[in-house]
Amino acid sequence: MTKEAGKRSRVNRGPLAEIDLSALQHNLKIVRKISEERPVIAVVKADAYGHGSVEIARNLARLGVSHFAVAYTGEAKVLRESGITADIIVLFDRSDVEDYFTYGLVPVVQDKETARKFSVEAVKRSKSIRVHLKVDTGMGRLGFRPEQTVSAALEIAGWEGIKLEGLMSHFSEADLADRSYASHQLNLFNEIRFAISGGLGRPIISHIANSAAVLSLKDAMMDAVRPGLLLYGISPFREGFGLMPLMTLKTSVLAVRDLCAGTPVSYGRTFITKCDSRIAVIPVGYADGYSRLYSNNSEMLVRGRRVPVAGRVCMDVTMLDVTSIGGVCEGEEVVILGKQGNEQITAAELAARIGTIPYEILTSLGGRARREYVNGH
Ligand SMILES: *Cc1c(COP(=O)(O)O)cnc(C)c1O
Repeated sequence: MTKEAGKRSRVNRGPLAEIDLSALQHNLKIVRKISEERPVIAVVKADAYGHGSVEIARNLARLGVSHFAVAYTGEAKVLRESGITADIIVLFDRSDVEDYFTYGLVPVVQDKETARKFSVEAVKRSKSIRVHLKVDTGMGRLGFRPEQTVSAALEIAGWEGIKLEGLMSHFSEADLADRSYASHQLNLFNEIRFAISGGLGRPIISHIANSAAVLSLKDAMMDAVRPGLLLYGISPFREGFGLMPLMTLKTSVLAVRDLCAGTPVSYGRTFITKCDSRIAVIPVGYADGYSRLYSNNSEMLVRGRRVPVAGRVCMDVTMLDVTSIGGVCEGEEVVILGKQGNEQITAAELAARIGTIPYEILTSLGGRARREYVNGH
């Protein structure tokens, strides 16, 4: 556990995230089936999308996953220190070349200068390092330009200490119904990988399929798939594909107040009770990742029923209008995300309410929550 997380759990604030490890196993099975048992590079960046990278990686490793991907070396270090021995691919970090050797990590190389640094460090240590090259096929973020990739790859592959093992790229819009841009990226990637493997005289492990591509672009699966979102049980499409969300966010009622008709609630008096009302105060606010944009614009579950957020979300608390339920008491369970009884609030629903995507819901709420790992909800 990091210091920060330790501090947070002592303060005991914010929601409790229940993370269902049986759902993780279920989702991995689905990924393996769809990808016809290709190796899975499990993306566990950003603390496994707010689910806790150590526990998630440990469990995936137990289920036979042998490759992980993180964004920065610091995240990989945490995994190594908790005993994860599988391959860890670091997607973005170019800062500390030494860490890659210290922790035995696989860098994604995006330019020749960095590749040179890896070669120099490898020679210094009389070691070699496996690297994956990234080509920018249209994401416009990081990677070699397509027209420079083949020659750069062949050159770098010849440098001392470098074992050019993989080639990767990333889709910009594989989740859109219009497949034309994704197809363009895929064609470009294929051209480049065949030219490289031709030049090397051996295959190069090629991977480009994020969650959306796993579900919708069969030709993109290649030598390995690289999903994040799917493992956490969320589909980037409307269709659910039988995935099971891992995360349930719960809290309990901090206090209830009976207010007369016409009473304003919270900052700015944006909510005024229409009738005599019972308002429940919930110990979760925007400091816990529950966006202020949910003010008068979201619901939570109490006794398996939906209740609206009343007034502005505050830093540490939020108010719910529980009048319709009747008799709600202090201490009762409140579900912010997930199922309660027959009702469910999904990450997609929360995301749609505030104009974002489920990824941001998981990282902002789950990333700050206290966590408990369970098997089945
Ligand atoms: C985050 C990320 C992924 C995983 O994306 P999902 O949509 O969660 O499957 C794959 N590859 C790269 C390079 C990423 O940054």
